[in-house]
Amino acid sequence: MPCYRCGARQTDPVRGASPWRRGVRGEIQVLICPDCQRVHDLELDLCESCGSTSLICRLGEVECRACGSVRLARLTAPAGSQPPPGLADEVEAALNRVLGLSRQ
Ligand SMILES: [Zn+2]
Ligand SMILES: [Zn+2]
Repeated sequence: MPCYRCGARQTDPVRGASPWRRGVRGEIQVLICPDCQRVHDLELDLCESCGSTSLICRLGEVECRACGSVRLARLTAPAGSQPPPGLADEVEAALNRVLGLSRQ
């Protein structure tokens, strides 16, 4: 994943902690390169509890790594990460057939 701001690519991982930083912006997980971390208008999402920008976004939840609070992401997952509703219905129907279940 490149830097969300300048598009720089992360170089090969070095030993130890990566100088790249993770953040959440618009409830989307982003990476910030060391150069862009010096900028103060990163517009990262803030934790609603402690104001930290050390957030991680996963599975529709935003977790604060500073205080541990978890909240649901307001936005739905980006297109492509979930099957379209019609497909999900078909999968469920097929599953029900296989399992011998029928939803009435
Ligand atoms: Zn950058
Ligand atoms: Zn927090």
